[in-house]
Amino acid sequence: MDIHALRAFDDNYIWLLRQGRHVVVVDPGDEAPVLRYLEAERAGLAAILLTHHHGDHSGGVAALLGRHPAPVFGPANETIAGVSRPLREGDRVDLPDLGGSLRVIDVPGHTRGHVAYYGHGALFCGDTLFACGCGRLFEGTAAQMWASLGKLAALPADTRVYCAHEYTQANIRFALAVEPGNEALQARAARVAEQRAQDQATVPFALAEELATNPFLRSAIPAVAAAAERHCGATLDGPSEVFAALREWRNGFR
Ligand code: ZN
Ligand code: FE
Repeated sequence: MDIHALRAFDDNYIWLLRQGRHVVVVDPGDEAPVLRYLEAERAGLAAILLTHHHGDHSGGVAALLGRHPAPVFGPANETIAGVSRPLREGDRVDLPDLGGSLRVIDVPGHTRGHVAYYGHGALFCGDTLFACGCGRLFEGTAAQMWASLGKLAALPADTRVYCAHEYTQANIRFALAVEPGNEALQARAARVAEQRAQDQATVPFALAEELATNPFLRSAIPAVAAAAERHCGATLDGPSEVFAALREWRNGFR
């Protein structure tokens, strides 16, 4: 299956999985670009997948269903209008029209019921893992988010990560403040600056690259822990506490 990006709002990506004339859409916060695509390609909507309830991910569902009735998969632990197939950890989403299936991973933290979808070497993780960053903690705790990121980090290193926002450049500025001496990060910063100067997407990216450059996934690395301790002026007991301190630091970082 092919995967395409549609841009929405300032910095959202709506992901389309496509096989022939069948399209599955992930997190359609805005129906307009999806409707335009389906019409231009004369394609049908096979399913809608939602990662969490925020409007920039689910706001287009009602209007899409009005034109293209389709099953709507979404987290069982959140209330989202239009969801017909509530999902929890370990469930499989069968997409017969696309000849594939995705596995559901519970990743609470950004929101209480956030889910991610994994299959065919691709991860659709909404607002949980970003390039060099992670989602804000709106409903969950730092410990929950740390555990959720741990599940994603344990996927195969060659997994392609399809997150829902183009936040990479701002995230890299923060990552460099945490780990100025990280050479993989410096190289990524240069590459991303070039991509963004040409208005190219920096998503998807490989999970292996996150493990080498994303400070939040690197909370167990001594240099990252030391930087977090220096910033907050306290001794931190283990990676979960380091992660919490990094998330706090990031919230106030400009
Ligand atoms: Zn969100
Ligand atoms: Fe979002």
